[in-house]
Amino acid sequence: MMKKLKTFRGGLHPSEHKEQTAHLAIEDCPLPEELVIPLSQHIGAPAEACVAKGERVAKGQLIGRARGFVSVPVHASTSGEVLAVEARPHPSGKLLPAVVLRPDGEDAWGEAPASVADYRELGAEELCERIRAAGVVGLGGAAFPTHVKLSPPPEKPIHTLLINGVECEPYLTADHRLMLEETARLLAGIDILRRALGARRVCIGIEANKPDAIARLEEACRGTDVEVATLAVKYPQGAEKQLISALVGREVPSGGLPMDLGVVVQNVGTAAAVADAVLAGKPLIERVTTLTGSALARPGNLRVRIGTPLRHLVAWRGGLTGELAKILCGGPMMGAAQLSLDVPVVRGTSGVLLLREGDVELRRESACIRCGRCVRACPSFLMPTTIAAYARLERFEAAEQFRAMDCIECGCCTYICPAAIPLVQAVRHAKLAILARRRKL
Ligand code: SF4
Ligand code: SF4
Repeated sequence: MMKKLKTFRGGLHPSEHKEQTAHLAIEDCPLPEELVIPLSQHIGAPAEACVAKGERVAKGQLIGRARGFVSVPVHASTSGEVLAVEARPHPSGKLLPAVVLRPDGEDAWGEAPASVADYRELGAEELCERIRAAGVVGLGGAAFPTHVKLSPPPEKPIHTLLINGVECEPYLTADHRLMLEETARLLAGIDILRRALGARRVCIGIEANKPDAIARLEEACRGTDVEVATLAVKYPQGAEKQLISALVGREVPSGGLPMDLGVVVQNVGTAAAVADAVLAGKPLIERVTTLTGSALARPGNLRVRIGTPLRHLVAWRGGLTGELAKILCGGPMMGAAQLSLDVPVVRGTSGVLLLREGDVELRRESACIRCGRCVRACPSFLMPTTIAAYARLERFEAAEQFRAMDCIECGCCTYICPAAIPLVQAVRHAKLAILARRRKL
């Protein structure tokens, strides 16, 4: 009998669409004529520009200083001249301050990044400081500063480090390729993260639809105590709380954090960036991202400098194949819709999805038929239909009582709803209103 694979309760199975890029090796994207490097690419306080128009900068040079503990510095992705420090379109949909840089083509580091002979001789604090100084954030999409996750309060010791290689969003394959092609860098990063946390158990979770990555990591981890777990293919298996549920067998309490269970989750891309930061002193100035979708001539998995405009990526990959109907930064379930190709790749850009006219389904909303599908699909055990109804009536206290703040915005409810009710959008509206009210209290 086949062994039942680990998973979580709820969720669904959207079409995967990964075949376009899963077999394509990572390629280096050439530098654009202009880089737009936002000062806010992470959760927390935006960085503060420390360069001015006309200044020449070296690759890896600090161009934005972190402001406070929950913040990270920003670095120049190549050498060149600062053209402006001004508000530019950002993937969040806002105009936000950015350092605009014209590459000089030299791609020259200033000071050679400081490497370490043996990271095992460094203490947890020093490891954390190197990770912070390099501007490392969660590369799965959330962009939460990694050093903050590595600094739990003393009363919450961490025993388990989970490495997220799930990549459950349809279309995205960057993490898959990274696990296959950069296994040694990934494992070095995992060991550093483990030492920084003092974790006893380390487990890498991968969905069963990536058998080559599972085999590669099982082979690489043979003889070590690092586990490689094969997970059922289900969305949103890669969400933090759902991964913990599958691999630890416990639910993060309502309003709580993984550290309340002694667990920290880090994405595979983040672990690789941690290796660069600690071993080579290299700041986070590039990432691997998937550029894909029906509107694109040549999809691929690309190593892209932070600040590269989407327009440059598209042109390099042979342009568009038809009328562009939708641009998403991230996957189709949780990605953010964009108004134009002028936004840049930022640290949290796990993928870029470009869809053609005809591939974007426009559904007309109708009344709720009380089928309960949204409730069954919700991985946070919420009642999306009830919360959304209260949100639409602006009864946010009632939405809060129905645990709106536990929504992880996975989009399962909207996806499954036969009445095409924009449930996640309504729940998100309630969350923002609840947060605004909490800030006023
Ligand atoms: S209510 Fe939130 S967590 Fe539940 S399915 Fe909808 S988006 Fe996902
Ligand atoms: S899935 Fe849609 S139609 Fe069904 S109960 Fe939920 S909101 Fe109503």
